[in-house]
Amino acid sequence: MTRRPGSKLHPVALIGRERHQEAVDRLRRSYDAIAPSDTVRLAKKTSNLFRQRAAASGPGLDVSGLDGVIGIDPAGRTADVQGMCTYEHLVEETLRHGLIPFVVPQLKTITLGGAVTGLGIESTSFRNGLPHESVLEMDIFTGSGEVVTASQAGPDGEGEHADLFRTFPNSYGSLGYATRLRIRLEPVPAYAALRHVRFHEADKLAAAIAEIVDSRAWDGIRVDGMDGVAFAPGEYYLTLATWSQSPEVGGRQQEPSDYTGMDVYYRSIQEREIDVLTVHDYLWRWDTDWFWCSGAFGAQDPRIRRFWPRRWRRSDVYMKLLGLDRRFGIADRLDRRAGRPQRERVIQDVEVPVERIGDFLDWFDAEVGMRPVWLCPLVATGDWPTYPLEAGRTYINAGFWGTVHVGPDAPGAPRNRAIEAKVHELGGHKSLYSDAFYDKDTFDRLYDGPNLAAVKHRYDPDDRFITLYDKAVARR
Ligand SMILES: Cc1cc2nc3c(=O)[nH]c(=O)nc-3n(C[C@H](O)[C@H](O)[C@H](O)COP(=O)(O)OP(=O)(O)OC[C@H]3O[C@@H](n4cnc5c(N)ncnc54)[C@H](O)[C@@H]3O)c2cc1C
Repeated sequence: MTRRPGSKLHPVALIGRERHQEAVDRLRRSYDAIAPSDTVRLAKKTSNLFRQRAAASGPGLDVSGLDGVIGIDPAGRTADVQGMCTYEHLVEETLRHGLIPFVVPQLKTITLGGAVTGLGIESTSFRNGLPHESVLEMDIFTGSGEVVTASQAGPDGEGEHADLFRTFPNSYGSLGYATRLRIRLEPVPAYAALRHVRFHEADKLAAAIAEIVDSRAWDGIRVDGMDGVAFAPGEYYLTLATWSQSPEVGGRQQEPSDYTGMDVYYRSIQEREIDVLTVHDYLWRWDTDWFWCSGAFGAQDPRIRRFWPRRWRRSDVYMKLLGLDRRFGIADRLDRRAGRPQRERVIQDVEVPVERIGDFLDWFDAEVGMRPVWLCPLVATGDWPTYPLEAGRTYINAGFWGTVHVGPDAPGAPRNRAIEAKVHELGGHKSLYSDAFYDKDTFDRLYDGPNLAAVKHRYDPDDRFITLYDKAVARR
């Protein structure tokens, strides 16, 4: 396996304050052009939301020019970033300074604003929490058509608009749109050395995770990133990443691996105990094959992969293919023709307390039977009412993205509903980027409905934005 030539750096493209202000002015003008009786929504090209939404009726908010990095302060280790800036672009800019955001979600086109308002997670989340927890302040375009700067409470007391700041994560644009975010960055060297550690029992896996969260080390070696994959009952792996100045594996220099070519990253987890990647390739290791989901399009079959252009081995390309499949019902038609039972799409990320992950995986195997499952430990560092994980407690994010043949009940989403119920029985939480089925009372209890309503009323008194419940459950 050889490393492809060093990834090409585009010219530095910081946009600066002036151009940022022009884009905000454009956004405001587009807001003014929307009739007061119409609801306001984003006009944005990419999305990593999975739930289906009602088609937009009007022109939407013009967010063009809000997709850049405004500036980076290498000494202070912060960046000012526009709300619709993708992590792909953000990381390209910060890596020039040997810095990365505290948490970099795995899919290249996830935007900073999307990850903060719709949550995100990655392998540094066991020590850095979720992306919104390293935001220092945000400019938010509210339903009243004004931009307010909201910041976290500091040692001297409440930050400005602290209620909006705290309630914003997991509000999915129902409280406003972040136009600028100041985030913290952390230093990284050039390489990530990986250990793929196998576990046969879920309890031992959970104990190892708890130990690493406490000690930040495994077998005496520092752990900077930790995620895992459950391939099958009794086959669990933790991938432990250690930042490294040189491409060393097991004490020997080695060519960093490249999983954007013919080799597929997730398979390497079962095949090798140690590995090394550039930090750049480590951050995007899951994007190339959208975890394992590219297999559904044949992209992992060597005969097809050989001809699949490298630049199209990316999650946003598969997302578009999936959109076409849904639009034209291709998989459903093929199933009907082959006499297979109708499919239910089961695309969810859930958080379960670490000590219950074995229970969840056993139940999931018996009731849903879909594998692999991605596992990512996280510890929230603060209290966030719209996604109330217990601060300081270790949870495991379990992510599963696929279909199950359930037959004629498929439109009623029986597996998705069962997962929703199980997660809450185990004391967990469910992300809202995909289908949700809660009744209003349960939803309000889980996501602090009264607080959401009070904050929305303060910043969007005329209800120009759709409520979180209407977005997440009623699919508006
Ligand atoms: C199959 C799948 C797997 C996923 N896996 C992961 C994962 O492993 N790790 C992870 O971190 N996340 C994952 N996600 C979730 C993803 O991070 C969230 O859906 C995120 O919100 C997407 O961000 P986006 O930038 O694409 O936003 P969009 O999809 O464009 O928008 C998401 C929501 O945020 C709102 N929004 C967008 N921009 C802003 C803004 N600037 N201010 C306020 N609101 C805004 C939109 O109105 C919308 O309601 C996954 C999603 C899918 C479908």
